[in-house]
Amino acid sequence: MMELQNLIGGEMTNPQSGQWLDNVEPATGQVFSRIPRSDAADIEAAVEAARAAFPKWSSTPFEERAACLRRWGALVAKHSEALIAAESQDNGKPVSLAQAVDIPRAQKNLEFFAGAIEHFASEAHIPGGAEFIHYTHRKPIGVVGCISPWNLPLYLFTWKIAPALAAGNCVVAKPSEVTPVTAWMLSNWAAEAGFPAGVFNVVHGLGHEAGQALVEHPKVKAISFTGGTQTGAHIARTTAGMFKKLSLELGGKNPAIIFADCDFENAISTTIRSSFANQGQICLCSSRILIEDRLYEAFRDALVAKAKRIIPGDPSDNTTKMGALVSAPHRDKVLGYIASAKEQGANVLCGGAPASAPNERCASGYFMQPTILEGLGSECNINQEEIFGPVITLQRFSSEAEAIALANDSDYGLAATIWTQDASKAHRVASQIESGIAWINCWLVRDLRTPFGGVKSSGVGREGGFEALRFFTEPQSVCIPTH
Ligand code: NAD
Repeated sequence: MMELQNLIGGEMTNPQSGQWLDNVEPATGQVFSRIPRSDAADIEAAVEAARAAFPKWSSTPFEERAACLRRWGALVAKHSEALIAAESQDNGKPVSLAQAVDIPRAQKNLEFFAGAIEHFASEAHIPGGAEFIHYTHRKPIGVVGCISPWNLPLYLFTWKIAPALAAGNCVVAKPSEVTPVTAWMLSNWAAEAGFPAGVFNVVHGLGHEAGQALVEHPKVKAISFTGGTQTGAHIARTTAGMFKKLSLELGGKNPAIIFADCDFENAISTTIRSSFANQGQICLCSSRILIEDRLYEAFRDALVAKAKRIIPGDPSDNTTKMGALVSAPHRDKVLGYIASAKEQGANVLCGGAPASAPNERCASGYFMQPTILEGLGSECNINQEEIFGPVITLQRFSSEAEAIALANDSDYGLAATIWTQDASKAHRVASQIESGIAWINCWLVRDLRTPFGGVKSSGVGREGGFEALRFFTEPQSVCIPTH
């Protein structure tokens, strides 16, 4: 059985407590590896190693820091087949998705922030008369904590650690205990990429143990967190009196607004993808499909027909389009929402139940049918709470104003998609939607330079491009006379 270790001070180490956690393959329900059940003692050791490495790393020329990230990216490319297989096994996602999205994006994150630090500039202000110059010195913060979730494991892990390291910080990272394998693989190549011991540390374990100890540690100056809204709120409360910098990327309940004048075929096929990609376990997935009255029946019927054709399969099979949900508790939570929807009178248009196992190997896997529900009001919990599975609801609207009101009738504000061929209407609606991201006639198209994040309960702060480098640096304003 595969045994993962922490990376602390350049050494692969066992947890000080001697305790381990089982790691389960979602497609089979079988334990296939174990990971350190680390606690405050391991976090302490990692923070001390990071603190010791900080003076040298923070004064290392940016070209050299960028070169380390590029070499790491090249190692991801070199080991991509192994990483793709591992991500699929650990998470339950189809290998085709890990191959098309997760692993190439992880490589790109590392390379992108290598380039970003080479182009990062700070400002100078020279007032009229030019008697004084004010300039902004952006310094690395020190030791920073990076905490990531299970849905896009290596993709989101690298999205945090790359800008943190590029900016000259030393990192203590805590990947999700549900999908730890690819972060562990990456940690094995840190020295080969050129990172000195202690610059990059990984501590595996449970959120309320290792994660909590990292968040609480007084020497950890910033926390970049992606995960659930409740966990984000807990982290914000924990750190409130400690004045840490916080970046919180949280949950979503994303609307897709389908106007009657949309490009029908494109709207249907993209909405199928935006609803069910990664088994609906992407924070940016559409979960509330709002359809204009006069298109409602036609759109609903076409969507349901297409969803019925998605048959969950063995994630390791190259032809599989939908894999397994990440864990038994998560599958049960999603099924619980469907049961609650039925009790509240929802009409189940398709799915609504576990899917049969694709083969004998997967007999105990966590497979679910893509599910479409209609007939529930916007106030209902199914339309308000994040389900994070292959479940969407349909609602109808009769005017632009009603579409906007329905879209905004949520505590969340992460992403929205808008489907119309009327460009003025598209811009008008986008500007009124309370979300960090709005996609018009497309979905999940990303330019890594753009700000990424949510409003309302979907988070605080922005990642991406220079926003991330600004987060991971502390600006000091310096003023000097010119004579
Ligand atoms: P989660 O909040 O349960 O866990 C996320 C990470 O936080 C894990 O590493 C976990 O161990 C750790 N953690 C848990 N409790 C902690 C604590 N007390 N202190 C410190 N760390 C702690 O989330 P999850 O179930 O892994 O991920 C799913 C959620 O993530 C969904 O809500 C999804 O919308 C959200 N998400 C958001 C984005 C985004 O960019 N906004 C991206 C992906 C996922």
